[in-house]
Amino acid sequence: MSEYKALIGLEMHCEISETNTKVFSSAENSYKDTANVNIQPVDMGFPGTLPVVNKEAVKMALKASMILGCTLPTHIYFERKNYYYPDLPKGYQITQETKPAPVGSYGALTYDCKGETKTVRINNIHLEEDAASSDHYGTFSTIDYNRAGVPLLELVTEPDFRSADEAVSFLETMRSIYQYAGISEADSRKGQVRCDVNVSIMEADKDENDPKNWGTKIEVKNVNSFGGVREAINYEIERQIDLKESGKYDEMEQQTRRWDEDTMSTIFMRSKVDAIDYKYFVEPNIPKFKLSEEWLESIRKEIPELASDRKHKYITIFGLSEYDATVIVKEKSISDFYEDVVALGADAKKAANWLTSVILGYLNKNDLTITEIYLTPKMLYEIMNLVESGKISSKQSKDILTHVLEDKKDPIQLVKELGMEQISDDKTIREIVIKVLDEHPDLIEDHRKGKNTFDFFVGQVMKATRGKANPSLTADIIREEIDKR
Ligand code: ADP
Ligand code: MG
Repeated sequence: MSEYKALIGLEMHCEISETNTKVFSSAENSYKDTANVNIQPVDMGFPGTLPVVNKEAVKMALKASMILGCTLPTHIYFERKNYYYPDLPKGYQITQETKPAPVGSYGALTYDCKGETKTVRINNIHLEEDAASSDHYGTFSTIDYNRAGVPLLELVTEPDFRSADEAVSFLETMRSIYQYAGISEADSRKGQVRCDVNVSIMEADKDENDPKNWGTKIEVKNVNSFGGVREAINYEIERQIDLKESGKYDEMEQQTRRWDEDTMSTIFMRSKVDAIDYKYFVEPNIPKFKLSEEWLESIRKEIPELASDRKHKYITIFGLSEYDATVIVKEKSISDFYEDVVALGADAKKAANWLTSVILGYLNKNDLTITEIYLTPKMLYEIMNLVESGKISSKQSKDILTHVLEDKKDPIQLVKELGMEQISDDKTIREIVIKVLDEHPDLIEDHRKGKNTFDFFVGQVMKATRGKANPSLTADIIREEIDKR
């Protein structure tokens, strides 16, 4: 690789999951396991039906565009991209192609890759409709039109990534932005995020800012997971270097390939000469409309605190380590949970510890998200309080948490049920201490002579209270009572 460097550009498709309805129809926009239940005639391309623009979807698209620092258009209009496929019953996709139509042009995003700050230029971001989804079985295929017309954001970067790591870090940052901004869950498992990956290689010592030095671009279509993006990029870089080394690179044409999960390789689909002519033209059924300054301003005001803002706050105000802050903001649901615990009055550092150690460990082990478990921010706050007020020991608090998660019971009820409440009143503990000391005058003598019998006394008190005596209070009282004798 040292002789070559890779140029990588991404086309990231992300469904907008947070609108109630689809982008041009009143059908419900929600992920469903049952096929063909979220459909209106317009999604099926029935003659005589007309699209109606979903204002919420446009608003979310503009929000994404603003976050990426893109130039906004003065007007919104859509275009038809004409092609036929069974998942596209109208025979065209409504999208935004030619500038200045897209909701965003020429922006940039700064992101973190393995501790280094990187910037990628955004060519454009546009709003379009998703196609239906098809599933292929041995001898037949099925089509699910639930996805037809779901709002989709397509973001196109310049070829600014130099490695698979950079491309994946960028995708993770974008996913977080979509989640924090309330635009999309951006859940790959639900097929909400799909990428086309463009890869070329060039001589390492040539100037990458001059497109004349760029190699032949290979596009890999429809990569459905971030892991797949990483594999596909690394596979292509190696494949292209092999072609260079064997002298076959120069005859390679610009081509479209697809990522094949089963063979972990890219497979040839079509060459540039077979490129489809989509015959774009302005969508005549959707009137062009002007964006008012007031509307844009109100959208701008709605942009919430993003992961990078929260991370900064956690480090500078809450005093968390860079590592803990990064771990907590990674998933919005975790960060929201954390914000709630702190808002209830919990110590920010201790709450972070609970999350990063015990709770995230449990979620990872059981492949769950924080919204899927019984524990609420209030319950975590209660557990932390039980320890703070000395009612239970910190070891017991871990047991309580395990019970909350596994038995789905509230912490305060569990402390009672499990008889865990610590004995913290002086009188009760003192009575037991006096009794223990009375029974072992010889050991008090040994203690005075410097032998360690102290732990024995503590152990006896614990035995008498079945481990419930507050340990530090017990130690203090034993010391006092020995001194009195
Ligand atoms: P096309 O006209 O084939 O769609 P574009 O120039 O619009 O190509 O670019 C599509 C994507 O390919 C963008 O993400 C862009 O960054 C990327 N790209 C363009 N040229 C290269 C290259 N030489 N190597 C890698 N990626 C590239
Ligand atoms: Mg496209």
